[in-house]
Amino acid sequence: MAQILDGRAIAKVLREEVKQEVSVLKEKGINPKLDVILVGDDPASVVYAKSKEKACNNQGIDFELHVLPEDSNEDKVVELIESLNANPDVHGIMIELPLPKHMSKERIMSAVRPDKDVDGVHPINRGYILSGEEGLFPATPISCIELMLRSGVEIAGKHVVIVGRGETVGKPLVFLILKHNATVTICHSRTPDLGYHTRQADIVVAAVGKAKLITKDMIKPGAVVVDAGINEIEGGICGDVDYDEVKEVASWISPVPGGVGSLTTALIMKNVLKGIELQGK
Ligand code: NAP
Repeated sequence: MAQILDGRAIAKVLREEVKQEVSVLKEKGINPKLDVILVGDDPASVVYAKSKEKACNNQGIDFELHVLPEDSNEDKVVELIESLNANPDVHGIMIELPLPKHMSKERIMSAVRPDKDVDGVHPINRGYILSGEEGLFPATPISCIELMLRSGVEIAGKHVVIVGRGETVGKPLVFLILKHNATVTICHSRTPDLGYHTRQADIVVAAVGKAKLITKDMIKPGAVVVDAGINEIEGGICGDVDYDEVKEVASWISPVPGGVGSLTTALIMKNVLKGIELQGK
């Protein structure tokens, strides 16, 4: 029976680390601050923004939410971003997605200063993932790695099979995990015989968005299974892995909820602090 990659317990540790780093910064006269921009009133985005506000409040990080109407002009959003870029009291900027359809996501994301881009979506930060330079990287792939490392799972030298090449999780994870000296295979919807590949893996990371796609017969006994998927099902959410079956053969497994997703808010807070460092403060 697999051991649990316990996201909730690791998130608690991360939050404590953030609190301590914040108190050191405050002694130096720096008050970390995260600004979130919400365009429109998408209910899920409102919930995400509120959860970041709560996390900031708990960890001593100042928070400001900028709400703009759904029919705002794109130039107005860019103007707001530019004013936050120039404000030395703002250390992190996040744009809640999705943006209204009439706006260019690429233009808006690229307007954020790379060293304040705590979501890790700016093309320069994407480039840093490839080049291996320090930058701000997206929370979900980092969460997959932290879950393993902080549980004592070794990544170096292991064969990692990532299922999913999405921009948010799978694609950035390829290069972030390569930096940890894994051998990486990436699979996607056009991969014939997915199970053939996953059965070769010491570590399987699922980032697809299809409930219970990864079944017991697709996992080598003793492999580590990290599930980044979030799928709504009747009565709650589940991952991309058939947890109840796969836990019988895996050595470690992350549950959904309580795994990858539990770390992401704390990792965004960590990015605010890393941003301060990159800003040379
Ligand atoms: P995405 O952009 O939609 O990418 C999904 C990927 O899965 C694509 O590469 C797609 O292949 C691949 N795929 C689809 N069906 C497949 C199949 N049958 N076999 C193999 N691969 C298949 O998704 P994403 O934004 O990266 O997100 C992935 C999952 O992570 C979603 O469930 C999302 O909700 C979750 N997520 C979780 C968090 C968190 O905090 N835990 C944060 C963000 C996202 P193609 O490229 O060929 O289409």
